[in-house]
Amino acid sequence: MRLVLFALFLTASFFSFGQIPGLHQHPAERAIRFPDLDSLLTLTADLHMHTVFSDGSVWPDIRVQEAVRDSLDAIAITEHLEYQPHQSDIPHPDRNRAWQVAEKSARPYSLIVIRGSEITRDMPPGHSNAIFIEDANKLLRDDPVEVFKEARRQGAFTFWNHPNWIAQRKDGVATMTGLHRQLIADTLLQGIEVVNDVTYSDEALQIALDYNLTLIGTSDIHGLVDWQYKVPEGGHRPVTLVFAEEKTPDAMKKALFERRTAVWFDNTLIAREREMLPLLNACITVEKAWYNGDSPVAYVTLANRSDAHFVLENLSGYTLHEHPDIVLLPPQSSLTLQVKTLEMKEDFLLKFKVWNAVTAPATHPVVELPVALDRG
Ligand SMILES: [Zn+2]
Ligand SMILES: [Zn+2]
Repeated sequence: MRLVLFALFLTASFFSFGQIPGLHQHPAERAIRFPDLDSLLTLTADLHMHTVFSDGSVWPDIRVQEAVRDSLDAIAITEHLEYQPHQSDIPHPDRNRAWQVAEKSARPYSLIVIRGSEITRDMPPGHSNAIFIEDANKLLRDDPVEVFKEARRQGAFTFWNHPNWIAQRKDGVATMTGLHRQLIADTLLQGIEVVNDVTYSDEALQIALDYNLTLIGTSDIHGLVDWQYKVPEGGHRPVTLVFAEEKTPDAMKKALFERRTAVWFDNTLIAREREMLPLLNACITVEKAWYNGDSPVAYVTLANRSDAHFVLENLSGYTLHEHPDIVLLPPQSSLTLQVKTLEMKEDFLLKFKVWNAVTAPATHPVVELPVALDRG
């Protein structure tokens, strides 16, 4: 129990990203970086954002510049279809205009700019994003189901936005409705935001697992990314990690339909086990391992090739010479552990529960790291 409390204490203090000592990153290091998997690319994407073309505060080229600074692979421009508060100042009969401006300003970069729209309705169905659409104007339909059908006709990937939004769910609990069940059954809805802006929803994660929906995390940024996520202080925007065969819009769309995603939010990874375990094994690797002389205390250097500041609980069955059962593994760096193996081993297994990774509500994955010792 004390172990659990200790871990929870560390985890709880850890989840306040900006408060971790030593975690402050320099502006040059703001790029969001996670390693590729064995056979798939790990693409970073923010699939929900606004500009002055709906209720955002910036011109679309600023969204592109922010994404370039974060080294994102893709963004989706998703203006509200039905909510246009700046329309008297910025009339734009063509609802594709924000995407056109962003796409043009992104041409010098390798950033993919995806055309999208936010379908903005009362609950149910609440708000949803259709991305990879062909023409936003054709989505202007009164009947909400007809909008989803038009999006599907255009080949869009569609996800449920902020199902936990307090303006539409007073208790903050994402809850399925009959209309959502119908949209899913009719293949009109494929994903759900488990993270929107600064909120995370265990209930949305459970809905995703129950209904086989793609896990999505987005900024839904209206103001500035740097201010909202305290980037100068070491914060980061939420993104969806998309595990794609190549960096193209088609490969990304295919990966989204096949539910190959993880969410990176406030120093926490959220994914199904199917994606989480390969991702953790790509992030955390054993760089080298050796014994000094004839002491059976093994030195094991772990490398962390990701932005996550991992909170690891040692489940290996061996105690550590310099750590209690909790080990903090800083981002983009390496750490040498001293493992008391009691006898000289050729190899052994390190096992850690990863407290800042979530595969289901209150469920944290275990990463296994085979260690082979250098002798001599
Ligand atoms: Zn919304
Ligand atoms: Zn939005």
